[in-house]
Amino acid sequence: MRSTRTWILTWIVGGLLLLELAALLSGCAPHRRRVAVHSDMRDRARLERLGEWASGPKLLRVGLCDGQAAVQLELSGPVRLLDASGASLGTVSVPGTLTCAASAGELHWSVPGGAATTIGGESGAVALHLVPLDPRHVLSYAGNSYEGEVLVLLRGDSLTLVNVIDLETYLRGVVPWEIGRPGESGLAALEAQAVAARTYTVAHLAERQEHGCDVWADTRDQVYKGRDGGDPWCDQAIANTKGLVLRYGGAEIEAYYSSTCGGVTSNVHEVWQRAARPYLRSHDDRGRDGRVHCAGSSQFSWQEHWARAELETVLQKSLPAYLDWVAASPSRQKWAGRVFEPAIRGADPRTPGALRDVRVKRRTTSGRVDVLELVTTAGMYRIRGDRTRWVLAPASGRFSILRSAWFDVASERDRQGGLVGLRVDGRGFGHGVGLCQVGALRMAELGYGYRAILEHYYPDARLETAWLR
Ligand SMILES: [Zn+2]
Repeated sequence: MRSTRTWILTWIVGGLLLLELAALLSGCAPHRRRVAVHSDMRDRARLERLGEWASGPKLLRVGLCDGQAAVQLELSGPVRLLDASGASLGTVSVPGTLTCAASAGELHWSVPGGAATTIGGESGAVALHLVPLDPRHVLSYAGNSYEGEVLVLLRGDSLTLVNVIDLETYLRGVVPWEIGRPGESGLAALEAQAVAARTYTVAHLAERQEHGCDVWADTRDQVYKGRDGGDPWCDQAIANTKGLVLRYGGAEIEAYYSSTCGGVTSNVHEVWQRAARPYLRSHDDRGRDGRVHCAGSSQFSWQEHWARAELETVLQKSLPAYLDWVAASPSRQKWAGRVFEPAIRGADPRTPGALRDVRVKRRTTSGRVDVLELVTTAGMYRIRGDRTRWVLAPASGRFSILRSAWFDVASERDRQGGLVGLRVDGRGFGHGVGLCQVGALRMAELGYGYRAILEHYYPDARLETAWLR
């Protein structure tokens, strides 16, 4: 529901749609992604990288795509080609398309005006290294242009593309896609977002090392689209906060953020199965005048509706998907508790049948749904916290998951008491942990600086320079 309050500037109308889209596509923040395996190795690799950064360039490896049988790169100027050992394979001086294809453990590549060449290589190794002779020349892939260098990695019969890019330049391709382009009035919010995105990146250095990169350029980490679509105010915000990250207890914090908290942020341990963090505790998102900072968001309150048959169609897929998601990890099983109680012995939880009732059983400190019960002819399902958003997927199609887990349910029944439909009245957009982007933009308009914004959304975290330890 869009508010008509006068302070909502034009960016809310145009920019916020983009913001919401970006947030939706990205699952709202860097929460989606965690690699538990090889954590010791990863920590060592991360500390090594930070050591290199302390005295040298801060180069980040960003995975642009993986699992590709073939890729095409557009060259805008002369490019030197190197092999896995760093030996020169020559220079391509003509702009055009470089084509790479993986087959039978080999890389086949061809350049404008040249014959096709094949090189072998160890799986996972760099097969081809592209270095523009002039840093102003970009390499384009899938419609986006990238500064810096590009690595083509051979992994079995598929290719991974990696952009090697300076950290601060990388952030210029991230910040506008994560928070939007509010202009000068939102500068302090952009600065806060830049610090959050930088903190996330530094905290996840080497996290994807088994794939040959630090972070992915998509919703698995932060959305990164290279040079195109940059914004001068975002660039300014990144420059103004150069090298700054948030730390707690000497380590980079988990700098989560989401679009609209709805008035109260979430406790991280109540949203996901992870430890409580003092800097990610639930608190009111209000100013001194008592007004909620994100009250002007078009997603501050919203509604979804399903006819019973529509919801049953959704649940036929989403309930088995929830069961699979829980079963995939012991820690999730512990967190989820008993997921299904059969109505009759032998009832199959993967075939929910007709829906009888939907009720909120328990709420978190902030008021979000902690346990949702769904009663069907097969039995009773218990869905935990943020995952309720996936289970109650909207029928309208505008959003692929429920906008937040902060909602009330209202059953619609016929005269006989049979369920005919369900309405959900919700607040906010995203998980609500950490920085509230629309709230931060409002705080910027009210004159708060980025330090105050960060202090508000990440209480007790310290602002420090990333590579000075
Ligand atoms: Zn908020």
